[in-house]
Amino acid sequence: QGGICKGKEATMTAYRGMSRDELQVEYLARKRDFDTWKAKGLKLNMARGKPSPEQLALSLPMLDALGSDADLIAEDGTDARNYGCLQGLPEARRLMTALLDSPAENIVITGESSLNAEYDTLARYMLFGTDGCEPWSSLSQVKWLCPVPGYDRHFAMAAAFGMKLIPVEMTPEGPDMDRVEKLVADPAVKGIWCVPQYANPDGCTYSAEVVRRLATMTCAAPDFRILWDNAYAVHHLYTAPAAHVADIGAACEAAGNPRRYVKFASTSKITFPGAGLAALSGSAETAAEILGHMKYQTIGHDKLNQLRHVAFLKDAEGLTAHMHRLAGLIAPKFACVQEVLEAGLGDTGIATWTDPVGGYFVFFRSEPGCAKRIVELAGEAGVTLTPAGSTWPHGIDPHDADIRIAPTYPSLEELRDALEIFVVCVKLATCEKLLQLR
Ligand code: PLP
Repeated sequence: QGGICKGKEATMTAYRGMSRDELQVEYLARKRDFDTWKAKGLKLNMARGKPSPEQLALSLPMLDALGSDADLIAEDGTDARNYGCLQGLPEARRLMTALLDSPAENIVITGESSLNAEYDTLARYMLFGTDGCEPWSSLSQVKWLCPVPGYDRHFAMAAAFGMKLIPVEMTPEGPDMDRVEKLVADPAVKGIWCVPQYANPDGCTYSAEVVRRLATMTCAAPDFRILWDNAYAVHHLYTAPAAHVADIGAACEAAGNPRRYVKFASTSKITFPGAGLAALSGSAETAAEILGHMKYQTIGHDKLNQLRHVAFLKDAEGLTAHMHRLAGLIAPKFACVQEVLEAGLGDTGIATWTDPVGGYFVFFRSEPGCAKRIVELAGEAGVTLTPAGSTWPHGIDPHDADIRIAPTYPSLEELRDALEIFVVCVKLATCEKLLQLR
């Protein structure tokens, strides 16, 4: 599912076959293209994976979903306007089973953002420990596994807690498990980030075998934790059969490691980022441990927001219908990325990129040593890209080759221009590099 690399393997290596003079001619031609685009003074953004205004508009009716007094009373009789219900309303937890693949009783509504819940989870482990083990802040070092390419905010969060970040290469099946299994023999390695479906940024969905190995591997740390951020659980493009990653919870429980995982999800890219519904889940013991801390933190999260989401999305079926409507807006943009990259770079042999079937990103790999320059050139021509290196811990990509393309926010017209400019910048930066090497 996803992670299909295009370009280099499929074609002859046209740029590499060029003589120095031919490269020089190519460079000058692309420099002219670049100057033409630059003169247009465009201001385009392919940096952050945000929903477009048209996507957000599809959720606007949610704001009117609670019309009468009766709508404000939850199914257990809770008045949603008032304090209470720490774990979250039953109907909201039931709705989140579609994203978390966990029973509603093991789900805790955590507010509006999954990153916030992930931060709280790590903070609790640092301050209080988990499952009776000592607080991580009392240890001389905590190491954290970071599948690369990965999500910059995950890496920055673990670094902010003083953890030592250890990159682990992604494979088309998920993180390189041979390496993970070796690394977890170190008791200082306390956990791993996982974005298991339509991963940010490479679109990979972990194979059932990777999920099984994560659940069953022998970890030296008894309190090793998998933070399972299924941010794109239902974000199918519907251009291919939908992926559904195997359940880490069931796998961990079958392996006798029920405390090993915490799952996270939100409706940030379903309804409104920052005003969605976020939740976590784990074993019954994990949920109880988290609620035991949360009761000192809040009397309960926003229940009106919970009811609005239930009234608007209703259930798994309603959610699927909404995701189809969103895909109707997003899928043409992903198709545009493939079309422009294929037309511009397909026969150059200087890049590979993914053709995902879900999620929010296309992952692009240039010739080594070119990514920073591509992003710099694009900036000069008016296209903001995610900074090169951000898919690696501390923003340092040792190959300087990885770029994350986020096609959802711009309009289709803007996206096409931004991609045309991107292609020119890739060619220009690669010519510069190859000319330096000759
Ligand atoms: N997790 C992943 C993997 C993401 O890609 C994103 C947003 O890009 C988030 C979490 C942010 O989620 P939230 O808005 O629920 O904090």
